[in-house]
Amino acid sequence: MSEFRLPDMTRARLRGKYQAPIVRDALNITPSQKELGAGLFYHVITYGCQANVRDGEVISGILEEMSYRHTDLLEEADIIILNTCAIRDNAEKRVMGEIGFLQNYKRMKPSLIIGLCGCMAQEEAVVNSVLSKYKTVDLIFGTHNLFEIPQMIEQIITKNQKAVRVYSHQGSIYEGLPSVRSLNHKASVNIMDGCDKFCTYCIVPYTRGQQRSRLMGDVLAEVQGLKDAGYKEVMLLGQNVNAYGKDIPDNGDFATLLNEVAKTGIERIRFTTSHPWDFTDGMIEAIAANENIMPFVHLPLQSGNNEILKRMGRRYTIDEYFAIFDKLKAAVKDIAISTDIIVGFPGETDEQFADTLKAVEYCKYDNAYSFIFSPRPGTPAARMEDDITMEVKKARLLQLNERLGYYSKLNNQKWVNRTVRVLVDGPSKNRPEIFSGYTPQQKLVNFEIKGASVGDIIDVKITQARKNSLNGIQIVGENDE
Ligand code: SAM
Ligand code: SF4
Repeated sequence: MSEFRLPDMTRARLRGKYQAPIVRDALNITPSQKELGAGLFYHVITYGCQANVRDGEVISGILEEMSYRHTDLLEEADIIILNTCAIRDNAEKRVMGEIGFLQNYKRMKPSLIIGLCGCMAQEEAVVNSVLSKYKTVDLIFGTHNLFEIPQMIEQIITKNQKAVRVYSHQGSIYEGLPSVRSLNHKASVNIMDGCDKFCTYCIVPYTRGQQRSRLMGDVLAEVQGLKDAGYKEVMLLGQNVNAYGKDIPDNGDFATLLNEVAKTGIERIRFTTSHPWDFTDGMIEAIAANENIMPFVHLPLQSGNNEILKRMGRRYTIDEYFAIFDKLKAAVKDIAISTDIIVGFPGETDEQFADTLKAVEYCKYDNAYSFIFSPRPGTPAARMEDDITMEVKKARLLQLNERLGYYSKLNNQKWVNRTVRVLVDGPSKNRPEIFSGYTPQQKLVNFEIKGASVGDIIDVKITQARKNSLNGIQIVGENDE
């Protein structure tokens, strides 16, 4: 097993000022590597956030450069890659279960290559455990090593050696990697990778490395290329998009980027995720001023209690959070705001949890993701004393979800009898006569279609509100926006 470097969390935490090197034409592929997958099939299984989904598109692109073709069928695949998420323990358990399950396919087809990549591959304990428990895993690569896929697969096929490459350095920016985009009308565009916030519960700064922003010119060129290819919507992606640009001099910040992306004229611009600490008035002005920046912000709260926020390392107080929330609501007509909330952070008392409920009453979110705290090995919160029982945590989650669901439906009801612009995603799986798509506020709409195709932006009259979606009918020539 050559070039085997285990990830190292201690090193990952030692961070100074850093400007990531840019590697252009990052895929260095030889003519023989280009033919390695001829006549063979690949299947990529992606877990987790949109950054992972985007990585999955790049992994597919690299495999296709090697002549592999995609298959939906696991039994047909010659290489199966598990592109993993490490954010919570249950995400990891699912992947471990899947590796166990895939061993059956390997028994039936010994030449099958099973690969593990993504955030779990950046965790030293996971890599050690997979290597010792699952002899069937041939390939492990980290979030910084996608460009090395051809060399690793060549090593497995031609030398019959496992390939493990996981770097724990700060990371580089890789430009020019191929990708197979999953949709033809909506695309994700990475504007940065990594995170320097080190919230005490979070594994991401370790698994994704130091914050690295792409140059504004590279982001704009990608968006322009997508627009020219007929894409209607771009999602600007990063773990903390509004810290964009802080790591590179003379580039411009996220507000500038938003304004510049808006100038490309692409119809819809979204972005995620925004850390409240980095939110500026300039960003709010950019959202308010540009019609093609969608009136939707995901603004993670995590907790409504100042003491918990402090111990989470979130760097804002609840009043500072409310101030941003209020400014967004005042500046952007009909804006929808969603959030992330963690319950059962170590030591969270009933009163502290009640503050989170109060914050939810204040913000009345359009949508929310709620989680029970999951200790991640190596993070500071995993070492904090946790005296709350799982029963209490589950009861808190239930109570929180009831309130979140109530406000979600209440917000949706405001749209009944209004006409909204919907970007059409396609027919629903079970009822092909019903199509679905999203409004500017990121509300899912299921509607009766009267003639439209995937990628069209059409008018839909909302007839009914549900907790997580709206129902409607396509109309022609009417629009109250
Ligand atoms: N960068 C984003 C931010 O700062 O809000 C969050 C990215 S993280 C992939 C998505 C969400 O997962 C977080 O907002 C948080 O609510 C949740 N999360 C992260 N670590 C967690 C943990 N250890 N236990 C439970 N939830 C966690
Ligand atoms: Fe994790 Fe905090 Fe970074 Fe978000 S900002 S990715 S929660 S460390």
